Amino acid sequence: MSIDPSLVSPVPLDLIIAAPKVLLHDHLDGGLRPQTVLDLAAESGYTDLPASDADSLGRWFSEAAYSGSLERYLETFKHTVGVTQSVSALARVARECAEDLAADGVVYAEVRFAPELHVEKGLHEREIIEAVLAGFAQGVAAVAAGGRSIRIGVLLTAMRTAANARSIAELAVEYRELGVVGFDIAGAEAGFPPTRHLDAFEYLRRENAHFTIHAGEAFGLPSIWEAIQWCGADRLGHGVRIMDDITVAPDGSVTLGKLAAYVRDRRIPLELCPTSNVQTGAAASIATHPIGLLRTLGFRVTVNTDNRLMSGTSMSHEMDLLSQAFGWGLKDMEWLTVNAMKSAFLGFDERLEIINKQIKPGYAQIRAELSQRIDNQ
Ligand SMILES: [Zn+2]
Repeated sequence: MSIDPSLVSPVPLDLIIAAPKVLLHDHLDGGLRPQTVLDLAAESGYTDLPASDADSLGRWFSEAAYSGSLERYLETFKHTVGVTQSVSALARVARECAEDLAADGVVYAEVRFAPELHVEKGLHEREIIEAVLAGFAQGVAAVAAGGRSIRIGVLLTAMRTAANARSIAELAVEYRELGVVGFDIAGAEAGFPPTRHLDAFEYLRRENAHFTIHAGEAFGLPSIWEAIQWCGADRLGHGVRIMDDITVAPDGSVTLGKLAAYVRDRRIPLELCPTSNVQTGAAASIATHPIGLLRTLGFRVTVNTDNRLMSGTSMSHEMDLLSQAFGWGLKDMEWLTVNAMKSAFLGFDERLEIINKQIKPGYAQIRAELSQRIDNQ
């Protein structure tokens, strides 16, 4: 009897890396290489870093993120934002982001950043956006020169604690033919409901533009409800607390509340970030992460990295953790990847092309490779 390679679990890590992956929730200021943080600090005279070599700095970032202290977690972004206050620094970070994602087997990524965080030394928001777009273009070209391919869409983020979401939304629309594919709001959730920025979302809807909202991570159902029903979000950043509206009885039977049912019925994508959710306490562990149940219930689940530096993670690492925790094989990975691609803020025809020309043939090839390994055993 032959073994179905799409059901084998855990999937060998080298095959996870080789398989095409799609990433929708990744912060540019959360994904710097430790050595780059050091280089940019030296170039710009930034002297606040807590370590002076790449290994200990990398360790410091993930320890701070795992500390359970919000203060220490926020300090990590103080450093990555502190060293990215020039056009050249922003371009370098974007170029390396494209290269790192491609090396990890990501074929399409939406990377987000908040222009307002990079104005400390006098850069204008347009210069910031253009520097990041130029860096991504260089990275994509370098990846292509190396024989691989990646496509990157930019999301402009507004900080929910600030009051300029509308002007950032206008910039997202202004740059949408130039590589910006959508908009997001991020930052402290409790006390800053998404409806605070309703004018920005109403503007985006009038402009037929796409947006996601960080909701249902630190704060529960009201935040998710506002994001969807008041603001009209296309996707939910995290959305993991939708679990608060799902009841599992002792006999295992599951009941969805009205909001959870709506999210599932409307196929609203959840940008889940397993490691990050464990770090912030939105989930207790990977093994008990709601992604297992949400996938079984057929929610439009996607897997994401959030902050690769702080979480010491990558798309392949997240997939590896899930494959081990839930017994997921290539079939599940392909399902998650197609889910993510269907949920991307790219035109329908472009999404289909990536699904049919890269994702499906890519997984067919990985399945064949795994089959061969099994036969050779
Ligand atoms: Zn995030």
